[in-house]
Amino acid sequence: MEEKWNSVLKDLYEGVYVVDRNRKILFWNSGSENISGYTSAEVVGRHCQDNLLDHMDASGHHLCHDGCPLHHTLRTGETRSADVFLRHQLGHRVPVRVRTLPIHDADGEVAAAIEIFESAVPKRDIFAEHRQLTNMAMTDELTRLKNRRFMMLQLQHALNELHEFDRSFGVLFIDIDDFKDINDRHGHGVGDDILRLVASTLSNNTRADDITGRYGGEEFLVILKGVTSKTIHAVAEKLRLLVAASVWYTDDLDRIQVTVSVGGAICHADDTVESLVDRADKFMYQAKQQGKNQTITE
Ligand code: GH3
Ligand code: MG
Ligand code: MG
Repeated sequence: MEEKWNSVLKDLYEGVYVVDRNRKILFWNSGSENISGYTSAEVVGRHCQDNLLDHMDASGHHLCHDGCPLHHTLRTGETRSADVFLRHQLGHRVPVRVRTLPIHDADGEVAAAIEIFESAVPKRDIFAEHRQLTNMAMTDELTRLKNRRFMMLQLQHALNELHEFDRSFGVLFIDIDDFKDINDRHGHGVGDDILRLVASTLSNNTRADDITGRYGGEEFLVILKGVTSKTIHAVAEKLRLLVAASVWYTDDLDRIQVTVSVGGAICHADDTVESLVDRADKFMYQAKQQGKNQTITE
């Protein structure tokens, strides 16, 4: 008997077990072992109503002596489905979806019953979790732009491409002017709104293969692919003017506009990521000293 069941049901992913009319367990497959923790040797020959798995429903009702789906199937010949909680061999509760089916003898009498059960533990989507974690590790939470770490990695990547394929690129260092005043006058929450406003204007007005990120505080970086010293200035000026022409209305209907100072540097073959960003930062600082709301590029 055991071999007969075994040949068909042994390696099923689902738990499958067979009981006779007295609910004595005749067969217990490896799926049942995996889900319940009990081995075949531990359970075959025992009665399932001996509080072995102690099926319980969501309202805390123990089903072994009253409401057991197997018992119902043995008595009536009807199939049954139920969402229950079994007690694992280690003691904890496992949600399972249970189906019971009758097995008839040659005379059509119910001679045994079979229970098929599968784990109802919610499945984790590992790929989605991985995507989400990667995204979190790359993204600045406030502005949803790329974060500083990601920008530094992308700059290194662009630098490698410059060395290998002679692909030019440049970087803009963009700092909001007098941002402290915005916080002081309107509060930190409005300051955050302005950071998001500037972030949106920057990211919406760069090409698809350019990369816009938040470097820290009220400072942004834009990596521009394929620029020359002539074109980098034009792009920087366009972004500066678009930020100056962006508007935020507070809840009190205060109209707020900010400007930015922009420094731009073209990557040289002997640059490192740090020396490149440093140069762009210095140009930005010069722009501040010359009165803010302006662009200096090399
Ligand atoms: P400058 O024109 O010289 O750049 O002056 P500034 O006021 O913009 O520069 P400063 O470096 O003096 O001040 C930057 C301010 O940015 C100070 C800091 O509190 C604020 N800040 C940094 N990060 C955040 C943030 O995430 N949210 C808000 N609301 N403010 C921030
Ligand atoms: Mg700053
Ligand atoms: Mg500033």
